Amino acid sequence: MQRLKQGYKAYQEAIHQNSEKFLYPASKQQEPHSMIISCCDSRVNPCQIFQAHAGEIFLYQNIAGHLPPPDSDSSIQTTAALRFGIDNLHITHLIFLAHTDCAGLKAATQNYRTLDPDLKKWLKKLKSLPAHNEIQLLQTHLRQNVQNALSHAFVAEKVKKKRLFIHSMVYQVESGILLIDQDNQLIAF
Ligand SMILES: [Zn+2]
Repeated sequence: MQRLKQGYKAYQEAIHQNSEKFLYPASKQQEPHSMIISCCDSRVNPCQIFQAHAGEIFLYQNIAGHLPPPDSDSSIQTTAALRFGIDNLHITHLIFLAHTDCAGLKAATQNYRTLDPDLKKWLKKLKSLPAHNEIQLLQTHLRQNVQNALSHAFVAEKVKKKRLFIHSMVYQVESGILLIDQDNQLIAF
C-alpha cells in the first residue's frame, strides 16, 4: 500500500500542476475519440503510452485483449463495451492493442489443456492461433479481433460510412515501442 500512497500523492501534485490533463470538467459529458481494447497485463498502460488526457480514451481491458465473436459464450461483456463505446460515446477510432510476451496468448496457445475451466472458456477461441512465431501470433490475434468486430452489423455499418476506423497495434513491452498494422505489415507508429 505504501507504494500506492506515494503514487497517489504524486498524482495529486500532478493534478495541481496540470489539472486539464487529469480532470474532465464535471459539467461536460465525456467525449472520447478512441476506444482501446487491450490486455490487462500490468506492463501495458494505454493511457500512459499515448499520454492521454482524461476523457480521451474509452478503455476496455481483459485477459489477452480478446474480442470474442458475437453471440459466443464469452461475448456479452465485450459486446456491451463495444455497443457503449460506439453507440453511446460515438468513438471515431477503435484500436486493438496487443503486446509482446502476452501471458494470456501463451496460456491459450501453449498450455490450454492445463488451464482452469474459467480461463479455458475465455481463451477457447485463441487456442489454435499460431504459437511458433510471436509476431505472426500477434498479427493473427489482431486480425481475428478485427473480423469479430466487423461481424457486428452496428460496427460494420459505421466502418462502411467512414464514421469509425479500426486499427491494430502491437506494444513491445521490452522497449516501449509501438507498432501499427498497415496492409498486414507492422510498422513504427
Ligand atoms: Zn497480455
